[in-house]
Amino acid sequence: MKCDVLTLFPDILTACLNESILKRARDKKLLEVSLYNIRDFASGPHRTVDDSPYGGGAGMVFKPEPVFRALDFLKEDGAPRKVVLLSPQGKTFTQRTAEDYSREKQRFVFICGRYEGIDERVRTLVDEEVSIGDYVITGGELAALVIIDAVTRLVPGALGDEKSAEDESFSWGLLDYPHYTRPREFRGMKVPEVLVSGNHREIMLWRRKEALRKTVKVRPDLIDKVHLTDMDKKILKEIEEEQV
Ligand code: SAM
Repeated sequence: MKCDVLTLFPDILTACLNESILKRARDKKLLEVSLYNIRDFASGPHRTVDDSPYGGGAGMVFKPEPVFRALDFLKEDGAPRKVVLLSPQGKTFTQRTAEDYSREKQRFVFICGRYEGIDERVRTLVDEEVSIGDYVITGGELAALVIIDAVTRLVPGALGDEKSAEDESFSWGLLDYPHYTRPREFRGMKVPEVLVSGNHREIMLWRRKEALRKTVKVRPDLIDKVHLTDMDKKILKEIEEEQV
């Protein structure tokens, strides 16, 4: 994944980009992130980036000029870019979006808003408006990081084991199954026998059943969207009978 991030607070991103999987992915050139401080594209002695809203009301509005100038600057190299505005009004970012983005050939530009929001005219520059969920956070930086992190996990070579990303929640439309490691018994809680049985088919079936059980309990809405095999339907029936 290659991206440019337009932000007023690059340090928020730097902290996370320099740790763990994101750092390793950058070291391996699997993730390329360039941070641009939008204030550097503002004019006037104070490099002001916000102003009061036309029509009145609370708070300030992110001015359009610095964002337009920043994008003009980025476009000078002629490389195709997909411009994404982080916004609670956007389409919700999901694992499916992360998969699509991980296959994207174009470089991304993430525009991080602040204040009450960004001047409406900035939307004319935008290919996609994306939200990380139905809540409002203070600025787009954390949203950009969520997206960069979720997409990077899907880039081949970014995780130690390729299969880690394949097995996770949402990859198959279900929540993940429970995980255990040593010790085999901890404070009276034992690891399920099947996981130490060495029987791979039984382990696979147990994991599928627990993933289905968790999804039915916590996110029943996901079950309606997932393709259920005959085996899944049989397991769901078993789960239902166990509950009676
Ligand atoms: N007044 C705006 C509204 O209600 O739509 C919210 C502005 S919010 C305080 C400031 C900035 O944070 C937004 O411009 C956006 O970049 C970012 N932001 C807030 N919530 C977000 C979300 N759920 N997803 C993505 N970005 C978000």
